[in-house]
Amino acid sequence: MYPTLTLYIDGQFMEAGARQTLAVTDPATLERLGDLPCATAQDLDAALSAAERAFAQWRHASPMDRSAILRKTAELLRSRVEAIAHGITRDNGKPLADARAEVLNSAEHVEWHAEECRRIYGRVVPSRDPRVRQLVIREPVGVCAAFSPWNFPLGQAIKKVSAAIGAGCTLILKGPEESPSAIVEMARAFHDAGLPPGVFNVVFGHPAEISKHLIESPVVRQVSFTGSVPVGKQLAALAGQHMKRVCMELGGHSPVLVFDDADVDAAAALLARMKTRNAGQVCVSPSRLFVQAGVYDRFVARFVDGIESIQVGNGMEPSSQMGPLIHDRRLQAVRELVDDATRSGGRLLTGGARLGEAGHFFSPTVIADVPAHARIMSEEPFGPVASVVKFDSTELALRLANSVPYGLASYVFTESHKTATQVMNGLEVGMVNINHSGMAHPELPFGGVKDSGIGSEGGTETFDGFLVTKMVTQI
Ligand code: NAD
Repeated sequence: MYPTLTLYIDGQFMEAGARQTLAVTDPATLERLGDLPCATAQDLDAALSAAERAFAQWRHASPMDRSAILRKTAELLRSRVEAIAHGITRDNGKPLADARAEVLNSAEHVEWHAEECRRIYGRVVPSRDPRVRQLVIREPVGVCAAFSPWNFPLGQAIKKVSAAIGAGCTLILKGPEESPSAIVEMARAFHDAGLPPGVFNVVFGHPAEISKHLIESPVVRQVSFTGSVPVGKQLAALAGQHMKRVCMELGGHSPVLVFDDADVDAAAALLARMKTRNAGQVCVSPSRLFVQAGVYDRFVARFVDGIESIQVGNGMEPSSQMGPLIHDRRLQAVRELVDDATRSGGRLLTGGARLGEAGHFFSPTVIADVPAHARIMSEEPFGPVASVVKFDSTELALRLANSVPYGLASYVFTESHKTATQVMNGLEVGMVNINHSGMAHPELPFGGVKDSGIGSEGGTETFDGFLVTKMVTQI
């Protein structure tokens, strides 16, 4: 059963009633799953007031109490994994096994924040006068506005929500209109875990109207967003006009460097799985594959084999390893990038077309020898498309990898410690994976540099965006 979609404001789940609604559809079948209520301006004001009222209390809740509620929420998410995962597969399209993994990983994130929030320490700074005591205290920033995307509808939102709540902030989350069910289930888990009304509020609607309303409100002190670079820049600019802190997790165009001394078969197999995960709609998806000349042909052959072995289908089918793209716009955007790449001289080795007529399926695609001027070499594909390009020297590989404004994740395959170190130091990115892939664990900071964003989620850095520093000097 697909759940009833609601807003969640001041501890109340609110159905559509007289509000405008948006249809939510299954991207695999285009079946209408439900109607999502759009928050009115009054709803947004109610959420702002509730979050402001709740902050006055929640900021003083002890870290142990905040931790207990987060821990209980994690338990509830785990016990509801099947229902939440079914909702995610229906409104996002990803295979059910991946949706389950997302829910369980999200529960781990909440637990990490439950543990870490008890360790938000300040410091005592030695003073130059023995009578003076100098303290550095970290306090919650206040009411936060968060905007989360549809690609990991629970996984992306949970990081912001548990960090804000753990830090002692309150927040209003605008969830993804395309894939809202997991957000409503998350709100229910926090509610059932005993989170006081107003600490966490959920709205949906027209993204630009909601972000403007919330960011311009004097109540909001911090803005976090996960999504595309252009939208991130717009929201950061708006936040800047009102001197609000931001945490931005934006797009990526992940370079992969495969050197002659790498375990080529293992790299090709891993990259084929990673490229097709979530139909390539992942900000850390490997998308520009630079392969050294000595292993280029072998790598390309193995990678194409791996890509062609992926079963594409409805995520509810146990055999499916890759589902559809989220919406028609994404399908169109991916198709245009592929057409441009082949027109520019890239060799289409597999895929390159829509699959079937019913859903938004696109075949996993590999294009070799893509020239630097093709759009796909500088624009994030955010779909199941990989470009493969040959290189000779490490210097050239680094230059190619760093040639885009993005700087999120990167992947390196080499058996040479010297090469690994040189490349690790030279890559302009927030995350480097050497000979494997291991990101998005709660204990590790996740974030980018350059156009890929500001700040990190996860790791001990996770609360940095939600805390302010107060200096106290006392005699
Ligand atoms: P899009 O730019 O239309 O939307 C991206 C996200 O931003 C969506 O969740 C959308 O609801 C939200 N959004 C759009 N305008 C907004 C506004 N004014 N205020 C607040 N939120 C707003 O693109 P799309 O086709 O839906 O998604 C594809 C692009 O989004 C990709 O190119 C990718 O870079 C990016 N994206 C990135 C991530 C990530 O994990 N970093 C996740 C999802 C999407």
